[in-house]
Amino acid sequence: MIIAVIGGGAAGFFAAIHACGPGIQVLLFEKSPKVLSKVKISGGGRCNVTHRPMEISKLVKNYPRGEKFLKKAFAHFSIADTFSWFESRGVALKIEEDGRVFPRSNTSQTIVNCLEVEAKKLGVQVQLSTGIKSIQPLAQDYALQTDKGEVIVSKLIVASGGHPNLGAYEFLNSLNHKLIKPIPSLFTFNTPQEPIRELMGLSMGDTVVKLEGTKLSYRGPILITHWGISGPAVLKLSAFGADWLHEHQYTAFGIPARLWEHFCIQAEILESQLFGQLPKKLQNKLVQCLFCYPVVMQGKTTFKEEFVTAGGVALEEIHPETMESKIHPGIYFAGEVLNLDGITGGFNFQAAWTTGYLAGIHAKKRGHTHGLLLT
Ligand SMILES: Cc1cc2nc3c(=O)[nH]c(=O)nc-3n(C[C@H](O)[C@H](O)[C@H](O)COP(=O)(O)OP(=O)(O)OC[C@H]3O[C@@H](n4cnc5c(N)ncnc54)[C@H](O)[C@@H]3O)c2cc1C
Repeated sequence: MIIAVIGGGAAGFFAAIHACGPGIQVLLFEKSPKVLSKVKISGGGRCNVTHRPMEISKLVKNYPRGEKFLKKAFAHFSIADTFSWFESRGVALKIEEDGRVFPRSNTSQTIVNCLEVEAKKLGVQVQLSTGIKSIQPLAQDYALQTDKGEVIVSKLIVASGGHPNLGAYEFLNSLNHKLIKPIPSLFTFNTPQEPIRELMGLSMGDTVVKLEGTKLSYRGPILITHWGISGPAVLKLSAFGADWLHEHQYTAFGIPARLWEHFCIQAEILESQLFGQLPKKLQNKLVQCLFCYPVVMQGKTTFKEEFVTAGGVALEEIHPETMESKIHPGIYFAGEVLNLDGITGGFNFQAAWTTGYLAGIHAKKRGHTHGLLLT
């Protein structure tokens, strides 16, 4: 039986590795000249492979899209499985204070090497610079049009990743799967008019960002950059009062001195003024800065700087426990090509490992053994 995997990213490699077995030829097609490029650059070059182990009911809350679908998938392969999979292959992992998990080596190359070595050991045949142009369902098999000719396979795992451009999904057209319009997710905010940009490089560990006019808020670190605000969250303040602030001398939050200075300037408080002597109006301005600092967003960071794509193949047409298409038995989907995405913290890779694992083990299970390689 020939199983083709489209895409040499995290999900494609994991799927290919798990699809291997006696009498199975696994071909992995990657359109670019390199595999695992995103794994390599992920997590600032350290690869945030997953998150601290947690119950599935909590884990799924980290996925703005795909929560219900992933609940069923995680029942088969979850964070603990990711730990044991990598650690049993000699990759020591460490949990950081905020729950993110990295290889102890602190380099994503360790993860890249582990996946490449495992795939090679099991006989996955990687075909670089070989993009899939179209897929044609035949009576029992699938004909793939590649840059280098036609390939007939009996099973197919689509792990082509996400892309904010619809054109990237064109090769799937013949499958008639419903596609949710892909849009960028996990981008930073451009705030060109905001004086706070002067504080570039400054970061805050525990803040809550709120999007005005919505009920959306998120707690986490922020980083002020030369273009605006970065990091998984933007400062939102909880309900502290002026009395409490005065009592704690405004230092209890561990707010950096430069940020205090900035807030005082915004509140038009002179360096010589003491808090006890501030007129109510200025006190309120300062409290406003501390608790509700509005930042005018004038767009997102430019194309290609977003981390993840929302949208993709609609989940209602995929079996969540096998990743098999409900429309085309024998075709499986894994990773970001699906309409699922997580917040930062290792959740996107966890989804890639889980869906890749399920696609791989189920693709190899199915019975028929057709498949002919045409050169
Ligand atoms: C800068 C950056 C940092 C990130 N850091 C983290 C992190 O630390 N932790 C985390 O959990 N997530 C992180 N993410 C998100 C994470 O990288 C992705 O969610 C994950 O890589 C998705 O894996 P995938 O295999 O589904 O897709 P991809 O990694 O995008 O792989 C898909 C592959 O398919 C190939 N392909 C596409 N179309 C075709 C075709 N027609 N024929 C053949 N090949 C094709 C592509 O070239 C690509 O190599 C980061 C993302 C970015 C951009």
